Amino acid sequence: MDPYRLPRAVVPTRYDIRLEPDLTALTFRGEESVAVTVAEPVTEILLNAVDLAIDTVELVNDAGRRMAGTATLDEAAERCRLAFADPVPPGAWRLRLAFRGTLNDKLRGFYRSAYKDAAGTSRTLAATQFEATDARRAFPCWDEPAFKAVFAMTLVIDPALTAVSNTAIVSATAEAGKRVVRFADTIVMSTYLVAFVVGELEATEPVRVGATEIRVWCTPGKRRLASFGREIAAASLAFFEDYYGLPYPGDKLDFLAIPDFAAGAMENLGAITFRETALLVDERAASHVELERIADVVAHENAHMWFGDLVTMSWWNGIWLNEAFATFMEMLAVDAWKPEWQRWTTFGVSRAAALSVDGLHSTRPIEFPVRAPREADAMFDVLTYEKGAAVLRMLEQYLGAEVFRAGVRDYLETHRFGNADTRDLWAALGRAARQPIPEVMDGWIFTAGYPLVTARREGEVLVLAQRRFNYLPEPPPPARPEPEPRWQIPVQVRMLTPGGAETRRVLLADSEARVPLPAGTQAVVLNEGGHGFYRARYEGPLRDAVVARLQALTSIERFNLVNDAWAVTVAGHMALDDYLDLTARFRGERDKNVWSALAASFHALNRIVNPSDRPRLEALVRDRAAPALAELGWSPRADEDELTRQLRADLVRLLGTLGNDPAVQRRAGELYSAALTQAHAVDPNVVPALIAVLAHAGDARRYTEFLERFRAATTPQEEQRYLYALAAFQPPALVEQTLARTVNGEVRTQDAPFVVRTMLSAVHARELAWAFVKSHWDAMDRLYPKQGLRRMCEGVIGLATPTLEADVRSFFAERAIDLGGKTLQQYLEQLRVAVALRQRAGDALAKYLARFA
Ligand SMILES: [Zn+2]
Repeated sequence: MDPYRLPRAVVPTRYDIRLEPDLTALTFRGEESVAVTVAEPVTEILLNAVDLAIDTVELVNDAGRRMAGTATLDEAAERCRLAFADPVPPGAWRLRLAFRGTLNDKLRGFYRSAYKDAAGTSRTLAATQFEATDARRAFPCWDEPAFKAVFAMTLVIDPALTAVSNTAIVSATAEAGKRVVRFADTIVMSTYLVAFVVGELEATEPVRVGATEIRVWCTPGKRRLASFGREIAAASLAFFEDYYGLPYPGDKLDFLAIPDFAAGAMENLGAITFRETALLVDERAASHVELERIADVVAHENAHMWFGDLVTMSWWNGIWLNEAFATFMEMLAVDAWKPEWQRWTTFGVSRAAALSVDGLHSTRPIEFPVRAPREADAMFDVLTYEKGAAVLRMLEQYLGAEVFRAGVRDYLETHRFGNADTRDLWAALGRAARQPIPEVMDGWIFTAGYPLVTARREGEVLVLAQRRFNYLPEPPPPARPEPEPRWQIPVQVRMLTPGGAETRRVLLADSEARVPLPAGTQAVVLNEGGHGFYRARYEGPLRDAVVARLQALTSIERFNLVNDAWAVTVAGHMALDDYLDLTARFRGERDKNVWSALAASFHALNRIVNPSDRPRLEALVRDRAAPALAELGWSPRADEDELTRQLRADLVRLLGTLGNDPAVQRRAGELYSAALTQAHAVDPNVVPALIAVLAHAGDARRYTEFLERFRAATTPQEEQRYLYALAAFQPPALVEQTLARTVNGEVRTQDAPFVVRTMLSAVHARELAWAFVKSHWDAMDRLYPKQGLRRMCEGVIGLATPTLEADVRSFFAERAIDLGGKTLQQYLEQLRVAVALRQRAGDALAKYLARFA
């Protein structure tokens, strides 16, 4: 028997669940009656349960037969075995269970979240987080996505509290001093999508989209921060009803901000839960980046109502399809809502993050066989979300948006209320496109890595060649290299001629393709439009030709030019001098994403530069970025778009921190004081940058001030700005203080691991932070949500000295730490890449920087 899949001899069709949480004792009691179909005589029933005590077990049928059973829990297997003295005859039965549990503080299952109310008093609310396999912590169930059933919840609560669940309330009655709240039946759905929240909650007025009422819920006093979230909630719901051609599948739609939440958000049907920063915001005081985050997350979760909730993956290997698709749809919806945000251009940053992990030998295919659900935990990463979304976008562009949408509609229509796999989506897209999809897509989904496409010119012919991109050379035997993988790459090339430009679409399926050039071609632009999930490298004169014509490139093309050039530099295929010369061509750049690519490479250099050369690196950063800020000025012009405003802020941050520019730091101090006294004296995009700059240059007095502001913050965004500012102060005593706050309860466990990650990758703090992680590992392992701990460890990539690298490797090896999947191997390989760059190009960097003496 498969130890990870429940037998199908007994299958649930409906759960009637009654739960009574006690927010003072931090416990809950429950009863459930599960309608099951018994297919063959059984003497035992296996289902999932963990951290629950099961008090009574009984089977009843319509004929009035009763069979009592006993429950034995296998905590390690997270299973419960119900045994019956006599065989249970086949047919329809009701399984009745009574059970008890604890409202835990691990942010999973049925858990507690603590917050302070407006008067500063501590309050508790109870919330759920079930994906992937934690519904079994709240009620015994068949906790696999393919066991879909109807859920009918009843919550018995303190009358002063409010309860929200997946569906609308059908009745609320008083009973023995309690309020009994009954919810309508859900659609047929998976256990991981069940949700309930109990606490002091307030909601916005509803808005209606089609037949659906939408509300945003939060703890009291925060409703003023809900309107932006509600706006994108309504806009994206309308967008998806139109795109999918199917109405929203639930009966109402609530968006709930939970003070403690491990992930960003969770797509429970009809009751989507969020961490506060991903839903609540003061729109007038927020930066573009902060608003974009909320729009993204809300749209993403809404996309799941169909893709994930209505049609669900059969097993956890299908997580990618769920998440990649929701990420792709999130982009489409936000792009339609705010075209001026150029969301697909900014998606280049996400694609770049996936390209950097996928360029490792320790990467993995997007989809791979999963036996234990635990193996899927590590799937919630950039390869699933960002690479997945990027290859779907590539496919959409290749097939055409209309054909792609027709295939998606076919898929949802065919599989609604059921489960489906990757091949089902390919089949539906193939029907719409009248061509086989697996041939093109399997290489992207089932093969690890991606190609480097090299272009060279032979007279009037463009020669395109592909091979796998890796940062590090192939590992030596016995890790024998597999046969060189090949991708079917939709390559879009623009040829620039004196008369204009011409686009060619080539499916590069072999190792090489030869493309005739139009007469007089002066330059070519690979990956036109930037949708391809590959890197481009121009050989010899082709590179000079394209660099000489930057103004003929779109912003995503310039972004890719910088990002790919940096990657091939790190991989050793381009001289560091050439890359640094290239960055000098971008002094006139005015796109915030291109600047983010440049800044990322400067940060990487900062982590490997000799400390004595650091002032010269700071000078290089000022040399590149100062002209752009000087031209933009510190105040927005009336007709300026939101992206330019965000660019100004990014430049201030870059110059004031990595550039260590005293003039920028001084000006930041003045403007920050002005912003405190006059609410709108400073553009809201710039305020977070000012805080970051002042922390970077700040002393103990400033630290105390920012700590107070962190504690007194009135919006989630303000709290985050000051929290991360505490990680940026350079004096060692202040570094120590912030580190101490990550384990003493002052910083929420949903945030603490990310603060530590930031400090591990910051040059000023990394050694102290690493020592702290080593000495507090057990406490962190106990306190933090497990995905938090995993994300924290990503910070080790910043420990880019040979000595630290050796120490990191021995720590993880001695402790036999497993972060799930290939996560740890990927972090260690990324660290190796950084140290290898230091060893290979360190001298060249020092020599180059000498000119900034
Ligand atoms: Zn998702």
